[in-house]
Amino acid sequence: MQIIKSIDSLRQTLAPLAKEGKRIGLVPTMGALHEGHGALIKASVSECDVTVVSVFLNPIQFGKNEDLDKYPKRLEADAKLAESIGADFVFAPSVQEMYPDGDPMTLVRDEQLESMYCGAYRPGHFRGVLTVVSKLFLISGANDAFFGEKDYQQVFLIEKMVKDLNFNIKIHRVKIVREESGLARSSRNEYLTDEERAQALGIYNGLKAAKVAYEAGERSVSKIRDTVVKSIVAARGVVQYVEVASQKTLQKCNGALGDEKAVILAAAFFGKTRLIDNMELN
Ligand code: AMP
Repeated sequence: MQIIKSIDSLRQTLAPLAKEGKRIGLVPTMGALHEGHGALIKASVSECDVTVVSVFLNPIQFGKNEDLDKYPKRLEADAKLAESIGADFVFAPSVQEMYPDGDPMTLVRDEQLESMYCGAYRPGHFRGVLTVVSKLFLISGANDAFFGEKDYQQVFLIEKMVKDLNFNIKIHRVKIVREESGLARSSRNEYLTDEERAQALGIYNGLKAAKVAYEAGERSVSKIRDTVVKSIVAARGVVQYVEVASQKTLQKCNGALGDEKAVILAAAFFGKTRLIDNMELN
């Protein structure tokens, strides 16, 4: 397994492999890898001939008051984990390598969905994500890319971008990997105290209760949302948003759910840590 830091050397390394007809899989990450990322890497290793894990803490997707500076960084451990799962390359460029002229003026945006759900509270976040992911697609020339459903709006926006802009890449969705307790794995879980970690289960428990209610016939969007909100509040979390959206369009559902498949999207603070989670209603 090789760590590559420059765009040129990644291109030079991958070009001959692509020429030989090798299928290249890309797993974009911000590092501090855990089992959630591990599932993405595993999926790529099983589907593709060559797996590239990118580790890049992308500054342009963080707001001014967000956790860019305190975000955990441990490239060596990340490389070891990626290697143990079978990755071939870790691409870990510097900010200077990715943005040599400072913040880019050419941006990829979804003008509608970038300001909904997480985007409403993180202005500029999704254009930062779509821009860096576009760069990584173009730099790697990957045939396949793997994203987690933990970031539901993100994978939806990436699939839409690929379709809208005709990127020649196949996007794979990987199911949420949870801790035994049910808490969705996240690099940000490291910020939680033991007490907050226990409280954070309020999100998952609420989503689970809402799903049970849905399966028992509940179709009222407001009742489904209330179930999740109450669970978060009872666990001493502070709700940022809980919404029910169409899986197909990601537009908000109101009133009563019909036949269209929906997903509950939630974000809440436990202490100073903001966590997101979601649950499909199928
Ligand atoms: P991040 O490093 O947080 O930007 O995440 C990189 C990729 O890993 C994204 O596609 C995430 O959706 C995915 N990911 C992070 N946590 C999980 C998880 N618990 N289960 C599945 N995928 C995850």
